[in-house]
Amino acid sequence: MNIFKKSGEKLHLATIEESRQMIISAKMPPYVEQIASKELEMLSKMSSATAEFTIGLNYIDYLVSLPWNVKTKDNLDLSRAESILNERHYGLAEVKERILEHLAVKIFVTNKKPRILVVDDEETARKNLEHVLRKENYTIVTASSGVEAIKKLEISDFDVVLTDLKMEKVNGIEVLKKTKIKYPNTQVIVITAYASVDSAVEAIKKDAFHYIAKPYRLDEVRNVVKQAIEKKLSNVSTKGSILCFSGPPGTGKTSMGKSIADALGRKFARISMGGMKDEAEIRGHRRTYVGAMPGRIIEEIRRAGSANPVLMMDEVDKIGHDFKGDPASALLEVLDPEQNQSFIDHYVDVPFDLSSVLFIVTANIADYIQEPLRDRTEVIEFSGYTEDEKKKIALNHLVPKQTHEQGLSDCQPEFSAETISKIIQGYTREAGIRNLERNIATVCRKIATEFVHHKDTVRNIKVSPDMVENYLGPRKYYSEVTNEKNQIGIATGLVWTEVGGDIIFIEAARMKGKRELILTGSLGNVMCESAQAALSYIRSNASLFNIPEDFFENHDIHIHVPAGAIPKDGPSAGATIAIALISLLTGCPARRDVAVSGELTLSGRILPIGGIKEKLLAARQAGVKIVVLPFKNKVDVDNLHEDVKKELEIRLADTVEEIINTVLIK
Ligand code: ADP
Repeated sequence: MNIFKKSGEKLHLATIEESRQMIISAKMPPYVEQIASKELEMLSKMSSATAEFTIGLNYIDYLVSLPWNVKTKDNLDLSRAESILNERHYGLAEVKERILEHLAVKIFVTNKKPRILVVDDEETARKNLEHVLRKENYTIVTASSGVEAIKKLEISDFDVVLTDLKMEKVNGIEVLKKTKIKYPNTQVIVITAYASVDSAVEAIKKDAFHYIAKPYRLDEVRNVVKQAIEKKLSNVSTKGSILCFSGPPGTGKTSMGKSIADALGRKFARISMGGMKDEAEIRGHRRTYVGAMPGRIIEEIRRAGSANPVLMMDEVDKIGHDFKGDPASALLEVLDPEQNQSFIDHYVDVPFDLSSVLFIVTANIADYIQEPLRDRTEVIEFSGYTEDEKKKIALNHLVPKQTHEQGLSDCQPEFSAETISKIIQGYTREAGIRNLERNIATVCRKIATEFVHHKDTVRNIKVSPDMVENYLGPRKYYSEVTNEKNQIGIATGLVWTEVGGDIIFIEAARMKGKRELILTGSLGNVMCESAQAALSYIRSNASLFNIPEDFFENHDIHIHVPAGAIPKDGPSAGATIAIALISLLTGCPARRDVAVSGELTLSGRILPIGGIKEKLLAARQAGVKIVVLPFKNKVDVDNLHEDVKKELEIRLADTVEEIINTVLIK
C-alpha cells in the first residue's frame, strides 16, 4: 500500500516538474507566466487524483501551447503578391486591384522609416539616445524640454516618443497625455530614475507603452523601442482594414483568402460562423464549467501556431438572432483594433493580443450583415461568373487541380471547351463554380476507376461532349424557357438570392369567390405586399389596360410562384406580378422568354433593384432573350461588362405600361 502511495507521489511531483519546465521554456509574456505558475503552485498542493487537478493541468498545457510571441514575418513584396493572385485566380480584376491596394498601404506604412521624438533636459542623455537610435536607422528628432516637445508634437507626428519623466515646467506625464490625445496610436516610452518608479507606474496607467529605469542598458532601449514601433505599425496597418468578401458560393472567396495568406507568408485559418448558436463558441466557456473549452478564435490561432495568421470568418451574414448571448458585441470586440489587443477568451482568462491577426469576413449578401459589424468592414464584391469565364477557369484551373487531386497527373484527361460547356449547361445551375468543379472531379474519379479496372489501358483520354453522359448520367437541367409555350397568366421574373440570381415564373389565376387575394409559394412579407400593390394598381387603372372595372367582383385571385419549398422574398417581383395579372385579365399570353424585374409603386412606376449582374447571368443561362429592367438601373447596366450582356436584349422601362408591349402578345 505504502509503495503505491510513494510511487503516486513521485509521479505527481514529476508531473508538476514537467509542467514547470514547460512554463519556463514557453517564453510566455510575464503576466501569463505568472498566472500559469500560480496555477501550478495550487496544483502542487492538490491530489493528482482529483478532477480539479486534471482541469488545472489541461489549462496550463493550453496556455503553454498558445503562440504568445510567435509571429510569421510578412513577405511585403507587392509584385510577388500580384503574381500569386494572378496565377491562382482568373479574372476578378477589381477584387485583385483592391486587395493589392490594401497590401500596398500596409507595405508603405511598414516600410516607412520610423520617426522618434527623444525628450530629455539633460544634454548628455539626449545625445546618447539620439546616437544609439540613429544607428538603428530611425529618424530622430530631439527636444530639450517638455515645452519644446509639445511644440514639436503640434507640427508633426511620431511613431514613438521617448521622454524623460522629470523635467521642469512640463514633465513627462504631460508629454504623454498630449501625445495620446493628439495621436492615440503613437507609443510613448518613459525614462525614469529609480526613485520615481511610482510615477512610472502612473505613466503606464495613463497608457504609456513601457518605462525604462535609469541607469539603463542600451540593449534594453533598442529592444523596447523596437517593440513599440511594431505595436504602432500593427495598430495602424490593421485599423479599419477588415476585408469583407461578399458574393454567392463558389466565386472564389475562400481561395482568395488563402492566396492572400500565401502572398504575405502568413498562416491561414478559417471559422464558419454560419451554424453558431452560442457566444461561447466565439469566446469560450469559463473554466468553472465541466468540459469547458476555449472559443474557436483562440483555438484556430493555436492550431495555426502563430499570433498573426489570416483568419477568415465565413458567413457572418448568417449569424442569427437566435444566437445565445450577444454575437454582435463578441465579434465587434474581436474585430475592433482598439479592443482586440487584449481579447479575453473565457477559458484562457488572460488577455491575448489579436491586433496582428488579419481578419477577413465573408458573406453571401453583405446587406444582411448586422449594421455595426458591416460598418467596420471594407466590402469587396465577388459576383457570379459568365459562362465564358467559367469555361476559362475550368480549363486553366479546375481541370489541372482535379486531375492532380484524383491522382491522374501522369495521364491527364483532356477536356475540350465544348465538353465544359455541356457540363455547365446540363449539370449546373449556379453563380459560382462549385458544382462545376465537383462534376469535373467526378469525371476524373470515374476515369481513375476505369484505369484501375483495366490496368493496361492507362492513357491520355480525350473527354468529348458525347462522353459526358457516360460519366455524369443524364442531363440534369434544361433551359426553362426555350422549350416552353407562352401562356396566359404566367410571367417570367428574376430574383437575387444568396446563392446568386435565379429565374422564377409567376402564375396568376382567377376563379369565382369573395374578392380574396390568395398568395402561395413560400412568399415572404415583402413579396406578399408587392402582390397586393400590383393588384391595387391594376384595380385602380383597369380601364388603361382594357380590363373590366369589376373584374374582382365575385372572384378570387390566386398568385403562385412554383418551387414552393424555396422561400422567396424581395420587392423586385412587383412588376412581374403586375404583368402576370394583366396577362390573365386581358387574356393576352405573356412571352416566356422575356424576363421582367423591378419594384412596383401603386402609381405603376418601376423602381430600381439590386443584383443586376446575377440576374442577367441567370436569365441567359435559362435561355431568356429579352430582359426588362427599371430605367433607374441604367447606370448599373451601362457599367456591366459586355460579356454579361452578351446574347441578351436589355430594355429599360419607367412604367408598367411601357413593359406591356414587350411582354404581352396581343
Ligand atoms: P467560395 O469561398 O466563394 O465559396 P471557393 O474559394 O471555395 O469559393 O471556390 C471554389 C472553387 O473554385 C475553388 O476550387 C477555387 O479555387 C475555384 N475558383 C473560384 N474562383 C476562381 C477563379 N477566379 N480562378 C480560379 N479558380 C477559382
